[in-house]
Amino acid sequence: RPIGAAEVLGLTERYGAHNYDTLPVVLTQGEGAYLWDVEGKRYVDMMGAYSAASHGHAHPRLVGVLTEQAKRLSITSRAFHSDRLGPFLERACELTRQDMALPMNTGAEGVETALKAARKWAYQVKGVAPDRAEIIACNGNFHGRTIAIVGLSSEPSYREGFGPFPPGLKLIPYGDAAALADAITENTAAFLVEPIQGEGGIVVPPPGYLAECARICRERNVLLLCDEVQTGLGRTGKFLASEHEGVKPDGLILGKALGGGLLPVSMFLASCEVMGVFGPGHHGSTFGGNPLAAAVGLEALDVIVEEGLAERSAELGAYFLEALRSLKSPLIREVRGKGLFIGLELIPELSGRDFCMRLMANGILTRETHQTVIRFAPPLVIDRKDIERAVERIADVLRGFER
Ligand code: PMP
Repeated sequence: RPIGAAEVLGLTERYGAHNYDTLPVVLTQGEGAYLWDVEGKRYVDMMGAYSAASHGHAHPRLVGVLTEQAKRLSITSRAFHSDRLGPFLERACELTRQDMALPMNTGAEGVETALKAARKWAYQVKGVAPDRAEIIACNGNFHGRTIAIVGLSSEPSYREGFGPFPPGLKLIPYGDAAALADAITENTAAFLVEPIQGEGGIVVPPPGYLAECARICRERNVLLLCDEVQTGLGRTGKFLASEHEGVKPDGLILGKALGGGLLPVSMFLASCEVMGVFGPGHHGSTFGGNPLAAAVGLEALDVIVEEGLAERSAELGAYFLEALRSLKSPLIREVRGKGLFIGLELIPELSGRDFCMRLMANGILTRETHQTVIRFAPPLVIDRKDIERAVERIADVLRGFER
């Protein structure tokens, strides 16, 4: 039975928890950088599902591997080995120059894994009493929605009413390496940071920031944990955003695009020393590293390399950024980003949501973050022509607001 948009919105409103402020568009199909709604209207996807759709929707190689693997074996749990897991972990470690990997499902689980590893590492290696261990993170961060993670958030709406949170969580300003040096104590286990803040408003720290943080962490024997759930896997124009600064973190979290946009796959990667804190029984997840996830994840990694998606992101992103910067509108406060990870900040008098509604009417789907920052993070397979046209539409929408 075909279902109309109004009916879907009604059912979701009635039966779904109201934990999202979703735009009123009902999508039924996707291919590459395009999405179609129930009425058959086509849109250019400039959202990329928060970087989960970097490979483009319904990538034929990924869909092929998914369906083939689903017919063979989709789940074993980690009670037994599957033939798919080892090769996936090996490839992930090769591409990130890390020693060992622990597969999970969501980004938040990957971050939780990193926090658990850091606490146990501080206990075993530095002798920090577990009730005194500290984790440092940055104002404006986004690392997920579990209780420990929102305990690290600076955003009141993420936290209010959900506490109490685990102790030892500390916040410092983002982009300020001196603040990190000041915040570290003998009990600090780790510094958790996004190389570019995504949900915080596509915030690019000053050049040299991450490298300086890495130096400080090394000097003070603190783990540098990079959350590349959103910035990783080609999004910012390199395989990892930390590579822009020549940094190899002590722990790395990947997610989103690791599942090729088809299923949730995340991973914590680290050195042998850090990963060595986990023994049997210390951590796990029923679906973590399942054969379906491992097969798709391995293919997703290969597609990024073989299709040159990081290089494509660098080239198209530089073009997009320049084109947006050349839009001389009094309504734009700033355009910033790296690769196809771009934020267009409007003046505070405008509503980012209204702006996105008008973009939607013009065939472009994306969302605001931090109220007034319009995010542009399309699938990395997007055509240059679609970016050119999108810039024209964005200019039209800006002119509409100027009147
Ligand atoms: N870390 C970062 C940097 C993210 O952007 C996100 C999601 N937006 C997460 C972690 C959490 O990922 P998930 O929603 O899969 O739990």
